[in-house]
Amino acid sequence: MPAIRFTDHRELAVANIFCIGRNYAAHAAELGNRVEPEPVVFLKPTSALQHEDQVIALPTHSKEVHYEGELVLVVGKAGKHIRREAALEHIAGYGLGLDLTARDLQTAAKEKGLPWSVAKGFDGSACVSRFLPAQMVPQPLEATFWLDVNGTRRQDGDCTLMIYDLPYIMEYLSSRFTLQVGDLIYTGTPAGVGPLQSGDTVEMGLLDKLNARFMVA
Ligand code: MG
Repeated sequence: MPAIRFTDHRELAVANIFCIGRNYAAHAAELGNRVEPEPVVFLKPTSALQHEDQVIALPTHSKEVHYEGELVLVVGKAGKHIRREAALEHIAGYGLGLDLTARDLQTAAKEKGLPWSVAKGFDGSACVSRFLPAQMVPQPLEATFWLDVNGTRRQDGDCTLMIYDLPYIMEYLSSRFTLQVGDLIYTGTPAGVGPLQSGDTVEMGLLDKLNARFMVA
């Protein structure tokens, strides 16, 4: 059973993996995407989950796999139709993740109006760090994070710049899906996405509290 780990060593079995797309205007613009009136939601299979101690194996069916550094939520309390005011109570922890994307396949799928599962859900495409317990992040709506590739800063994330903020994401997702304990929610990537190459090292940080490192085979 795939699981995530907290920094205090607890583990939690992963249920669904939800992802929000186009949640930062500058990233939507860099891919030439419109910002939709409702969040773009897609899912990854749990077989996509991968931890820092597992080396990323780029899939052979793509020639252009992009990193997308994201803040990841883990649900600790199930709910349907969660109210905005209660949304943060349902979040058990905050982590960092890579929404790895076979951009060539995704672009082809988008042109044909086809689903993104093959481009977004391959083995290892949902990389996650350990998770900070929620009480260690008292101001999640103001959280910031960063991503470096081979020591060069590529992405800066700032939750205050999200088009759909964390309470709205919880409210919206739970209006369409029952959120379950162990669900992961990738909250969208800021601008600065780019391709990964064999041998790359990706490092990420959340506030001054959590660091993660992912190696590409
Ligand atoms: Mg993404």
